[in-house]
Amino acid sequence: MCLRLSLPVLTLFPLFFALPAVPSLRNWNQPVKPFRIADNLYYVGASDLTSFLITTPKGDILLDGGLRETAPQIERNVAALGFRMTNVKILLNSHAHMDHAGGLAELKRISGAQLVASRGDAPSLETGDRDDFAWGNRLTFPPVKVDRIVDDGSQVTLGNVKMTAHVTPGHTKGCTTWTTTVTDHGQMYNVVFVCSTSAPGYKLAGNRKYPQIAQDYEHTFKILRGLPCDIFLASHGSFFDLTGKRKRLGSTMANPFVDPDGYRAFLDRTERDFRSSLAAQSRRAP
Ligand SMILES: [Zn+2]
Repeated sequence: MCLRLSLPVLTLFPLFFALPAVPSLRNWNQPVKPFRIADNLYYVGASDLTSFLITTPKGDILLDGGLRETAPQIERNVAALGFRMTNVKILLNSHAHMDHAGGLAELKRISGAQLVASRGDAPSLETGDRDDFAWGNRLTFPPVKVDRIVDDGSQVTLGNVKMTAHVTPGHTKGCTTWTTTVTDHGQMYNVVFVCSTSAPGYKLAGNRKYPQIAQDYEHTFKILRGLPCDIFLASHGSFFDLTGKRKRLGSTMANPFVDPDGYRAFLDRTERDFRSSLAAQSRRAP
């Protein structure tokens, strides 16, 4: 859960499975037409909860599954592009929160794909995020078995595609930012799929369940600033202006998803948010 939801909404969580009850989640999960971002990289997610399809001659890779309710949309979007879920050989996850991992169990069932996830988040995927350090048992989702564990720098290869895992912890203990390269009109681009840098209502100082949380965010911003980025994508469309770029796609010569400045601005903005929350909490801490 990357964006702060108000307390009244949090108390609605038992109703969580009745999606329409939570307006902001409904807004995040509106169906959108799938489209090609570049070369063999496609957008197959919802209005804000992202999911990406990367195709190869040896089968396809799908990154993230949205909410439990997003899985059928993703399946329809993959088919609408002329691909098949049964050709998805590898499922990847950014992090084990219900709005990105909730649909993975179903997508794994229909594709038979191998699920690859970080050592830090694999336990949460396999419990459906029970006993979350921030949410306890309030944001659970259908548990899903992890088939392969990756660590920082691990590579996942399929056909001619190589995805590299960068463990960028803080938002979750195993939050994973993935990178790869694609070509578009003959030019090669570095792609970054940012996990998340938000700390929605998190205890950043004196957190007994996650004592090193602040250091992990510091480390994460350092890692993310060091990644070469041409095409900036992320686990939420609002992080990289999915809606605006999708509208401009095809109307300008340049591909609007090529946005290294947007990437740096996102890091500047969210690092500022993190630092001001940490400073405020440290001031209040006994
Ligand atoms: Zn999240």
